[in-house]
Amino acid sequence: MSIAQNIERITAQLPHGVRLVAVSKFHPVEKIMEAYGAGQRIFGENRAQELAAKAPQLPTDIEWHFIGHLQKNKVRMITPWASTIQSIDSVELLELVNKEAARVNRHVNVLLQLHVAKEQTKSGFTVEEVLKAADEGAFNDLSHVTIAGVMAMATFTSDMDQVASEFELVHDTFLTLRDKHFAGDPHFKEISMGMSDDWHIAVQHGASLVRIGTDIFGAREY
Ligand SMILES: *Cc1c(COP(=O)(O)O)cnc(C)c1O
Repeated sequence: MSIAQNIERITAQLPHGVRLVAVSKFHPVEKIMEAYGAGQRIFGENRAQELAAKAPQLPTDIEWHFIGHLQKNKVRMITPWASTIQSIDSVELLELVNKEAARVNRHVNVLLQLHVAKEQTKSGFTVEEVLKAADEGAFNDLSHVTIAGVMAMATFTSDMDQVASEFELVHDTFLTLRDKHFAGDPHFKEISMGMSDDWHIAVQHGASLVRIGTDIFGAREY
């Protein structure tokens, strides 16, 4: 199937209100344009240099989401381009993004990345850490970022019960944050979870954004 057909097939299966982030990392701009031609407007990249190289070559109505681990010295590279940084994994990074967005006079949406997977290599706040940071007021008074929700990756496993229980924990944590710390804030509404192998499960557990690469563009060549 072509990229355009894949976009159409996946989009047709998403419940109303769930949006697709087409993960275009490692794929050239020509392939992104194929997806764009099928109506796709939200794309995800996980490396700062790659986002900064591709974005200027592509239509300005693309909404770029940064989804990879973000080093502090790379923040400046992506704040001119990213509409959403999904991978905020510390309060320091959040504050730095706020500062760099202000510097280029932009407003950036961010998601708080939650660590719910078993692998230690994955990043993100633990549930305890994110609730503590919220209690301490770390998410208040940010002039140039809007905290729009949470993001997470499940454990890489074929045990789909495990994956489902991790997505459920993300959903519960989202609700706790929303009701306790973001009460009345209409911007705190996104749950980004689900990739090529587990997005059906993520959608069942309340995902509002799914991040799909392989299932659209085929295998990546590293
Ligand atoms: C690469 C990546 C995806 C997409 O993975 P696929 O299995 O190719 O769909 C989703 N989220 C993150 C954070 C990624 O790095």
